[in-house]
Amino acid sequence: MAHLLSSILIAVAAVIFLLLIWAGMVSLKEQERRAANRFFWLSVLLPLPYLLLGLISFDFRFEAGLTLLILTFIPLIIFLIPLGRNKTYRQQVPMSKIDERDTMFSRNELKPGSKQFEEYYNRKPEKKKKDDIFRKKAGLLQPAVSQYHPLNFAAADASFETIEALKHKVDGPVSGKTIEVDPASVSDYIKIWSKKLGAVDCGITKLKGYHLYSFGGRAERYGKKVVNEHQFAIAFTVEMDKEMVDSAPTSTIVMESGQQYLESGIIALQAAAFIRGIGYEARAHIDGNYEVVCPLVARDAGLGEIGRMGLLMTPRLGPRVRISVVTTNLPLIPDNPVHDHSVIDFCTLCKKCADACPGKAISFNDREEIDGVKRWQIKQEACFTLWCELGTDCGRCMSVCPYSHPDNLMHNMVRKGLGNSSLFRMAALKLDDYFYGRKPSIKPLQDWMNLPKK
Ligand code: SF4
Ligand code: SF4
Repeated sequence: MAHLLSSILIAVAAVIFLLLIWAGMVSLKEQERRAANRFFWLSVLLPLPYLLLGLISFDFRFEAGLTLLILTFIPLIIFLIPLGRNKTYRQQVPMSKIDERDTMFSRNELKPGSKQFEEYYNRKPEKKKKDDIFRKKAGLLQPAVSQYHPLNFAAADASFETIEALKHKVDGPVSGKTIEVDPASVSDYIKIWSKKLGAVDCGITKLKGYHLYSFGGRAERYGKKVVNEHQFAIAFTVEMDKEMVDSAPTSTIVMESGQQYLESGIIALQAAAFIRGIGYEARAHIDGNYEVVCPLVARDAGLGEIGRMGLLMTPRLGPRVRISVVTTNLPLIPDNPVHDHSVIDFCTLCKKCADACPGKAISFNDREEIDGVKRWQIKQEACFTLWCELGTDCGRCMSVCPYSHPDNLMHNMVRKGLGNSSLFRMAALKLDDYFYGRKPSIKPLQDWMNLPKK
């Protein structure tokens, strides 16, 4: 019996050692030096008690070895027990629609002295003082900002200019030849094809009133009532590159945002053109030309939940995605997502984005009832004012979020545990802080972006 116990202790030591070495190697590959160092140190320290008890003879060795094994396996079993896994939350419906004119992008486009400027601040005088603050800053992608980088800003500009050039393609004539399609088959077709085009995920929902802005707030749509009679909305997500996000809030984040707005936009434009080509109406909703609130559509289409920072939290990439949408009258089969409480539960505990937010825009409180929905709301003015100082869209919240870790076996095992047990969520948060830091460091710009000094 004592011999068997020794063998088990040595085997457990070997498993712990190998797992920690593997985690260290994965972290090195991810350029997470702090996490790698800690995994490697732990790979030396943690197996030691098992090895000592397995190899060295002394009084009470059997009892000590057995106690150590019990202390190892009981917490493991407890963490694996599904606790709070099936707790779903009632999907609440906002009581009113969002007016796009209230979004910061719309307010940023108001030209002082213009008719729209006067009309807006006469109607919303409480917003004038806050907006005067961001108007005094240099602004997004301008040279006089703290994160100015001539090449990366030019690269971001290039993405946004390309999106601009594509904006008029969101809608178009519908083919006169309607192809009769089976709703289930064409739904699958669009989902599979969109992934081949580069989408990480695609979901379908019935288009609901609260998905739509009440009034347009950008360019020629400004002040016009949004009218969209389509029955369905298809949401697509694309991945934001982890390396680019890790350097947030430097210039890499706006470069990556621009690129992924473009990538997601192209997928939506292609899907909308395809649907019109088979004889049904379809409108793409892409950066700067949305009639819908994309995170709400994506959530209802089953692509994720809305977290503390107000972004869509997806199962595999957390908030590290961009979204585009197509609305259509093509008959489709909507997804029927089960809304999992685990993300909301983890966000309630975590608050890492709130701690790291340089604009102090993210709430530390629990969700509040806003417009009939229990949710978190960021201080959008504080966030946007910081963007105008940095010249980038910041993204620090996205980079520090534990759900933003890469989509690989190690982090997916943790994600599985987060969804499985509330005890696991508590432990995982402590471990994330230990390995990556409560306020993870901002990664430096990649070498290829560093310009030679003249
Ligand atoms: S950082 Fe934490 S609190 Fe913030 S969105 Fe991510 S999981 Fe939620
Ligand atoms: S983008 Fe930056 S300023 Fe805005 S909420 Fe996130 S961390 Fe805060």
